[in-house]
Amino acid sequence: MLSYQHAYHAGNLADVHKHSLLAWMLDYLTQKDKALSYLETHAGRGLYDLTDPAAVKTGEAAKGIAMAESWFTPDHPYTRVLGRIRAKYGTDAYPGSPIVAAECLRVIDSIQLSELHPQEYAALATYMAPYGGVFRQRDGFGMALSVCPPDPRRGLMLIDPSFEVKTDYEMIPPLLAKVHRKWGVGILVLWYPLLTDSPHLPMLRALQGTFPDALRHEVGFPPARPGHRMVGSGLFVVNPPYGLAEEAQRLSTLFDTKLKQN
Ligand code: SAM
Repeated sequence: MLSYQHAYHAGNLADVHKHSLLAWMLDYLTQKDKALSYLETHAGRGLYDLTDPAAVKTGEAAKGIAMAESWFTPDHPYTRVLGRIRAKYGTDAYPGSPIVAAECLRVIDSIQLSELHPQEYAALATYMAPYGGVFRQRDGFGMALSVCPPDPRRGLMLIDPSFEVKTDYEMIPPLLAKVHRKWGVGILVLWYPLLTDSPHLPMLRALQGTFPDALRHEVGFPPARPGHRMVGSGLFVVNPPYGLAEEAQRLSTLFDTKLKQN
């Protein structure tokens, strides 16, 4: 039973963290004249309306992208994607990760996405149609194993579960190890929430045991409303692209300094 819907959370500070680093990585990777594969296991609907009652109800975008977009320079890849999406869909539109990726990629690159929720999948297929690619309404963890190694081999996989199923925390470390065995050169990007009771810590210990050279980057932020359990956002990147550690450090500084000013 799937109850999580990203429309309630689109454009929050976790999305700012995840999407700005995703745009940076894909912008960097597309500077080389060689095709790449973009794979995403938990795609969501691809495009969000920040005036939708779901977004207004939580107010997460108002405390997220509405405040944070001024943190980024006009030439940052994330700013450029936001500008193009607003020009196409209006000022209240916000891109999910598949559209952030599609806007950064070139015609020589390939896209494969999974989304299990029927309505989210239908919306995703509509919004992604202009970009092309392969979209599947299927379990993303199964997709991660079955499509690797992709063609072209050079590429990045985003794994962005909602962690509704608590066993996700236990099954992700062995899954990433299997994916890495099949696709050693792939950049694997796992997002996870920082919750007040820290259920991510055993998962991170296992991941760091298997991938000692991976990049772990976390930002903290105030809960979106009193009693909300999410107090930060984390990314674990296997085979991090050159320069990602420095870009992540710049983002940490922005989160630390700008959130203090608010
Ligand atoms: N990656 C999206 C973004 O940043 O715009 C947000 C994705 S949201 C956090 C997680 C999505 O995973 C939800 O849309 C949910 O319906 C979907 N989902 C949940 N379980 C899944 C599964 N086993 N396989 C594929 N999708 C799943």
